[in-house]
Amino acid sequence: MLDGKVLILNQNYEPLTVCTVKRALLMLFGGKALSVELRPEQVRSVSAAWAVPSVVRLARYVQAPVRRVVLSKRNLLKRDNYECQYCGARGERLTLDHVVPRKSGGPSTWENLVCACLACNNRKGESRPEQAGLQLRRRPRRPNNISYIRSFVGVTDHRWRPYLFFDDEPPEPLLAHPVAPTDESAR
Ligand SMILES: [Zn+2]
Repeated sequence: MLDGKVLILNQNYEPLTVCTVKRALLMLFGGKALSVELRPEQVRSVSAAWAVPSVVRLARYVQAPVRRVVLSKRNLLKRDNYECQYCGARGERLTLDHVVPRKSGGPSTWENLVCACLACNNRKGESRPEQAGLQLRRRPRRPNNISYIRSFVGVTDHRWRPYLFFDDEPPEPLLAHPVAPTDESAR
């Protein structure tokens, strides 16, 4: 129970990270956080009982540190939900594709690498998506706190959903022109 997961929101309700119930309770007792959503269970000591938090909010706004996720094939597969980013194929061997081909100066970055099935990768070859008649289903991005919790931590408690998924979420803008190489050191 104390090892269960709790979603931590910034003071402005922006999702930050996930911690254990134990750490969240210590934050609540210390006045550093406030309960936002509770689970039906309680934790008990000899003389007292506390509701188990599901979501807590920091009492004070913190400048969130930039989320660092290692750029690897494994993490790109997770980010892309194990789906070919051109045709949506799943469950077959996926490869990594440089949206702007390396030959044209396309960098190996979160913004220029996507998962692609063998068929799409072969069709695309050394060309840009639009030259091969392919279109990205969503814009490749570096994981932020929300996408990190969604894709890497996993949403293990339905009470987190209102803070991580938004009904009025605009569809991700598709790239009219693939990403230009970006300066990694500027991030
Ligand atoms: Zn495909």
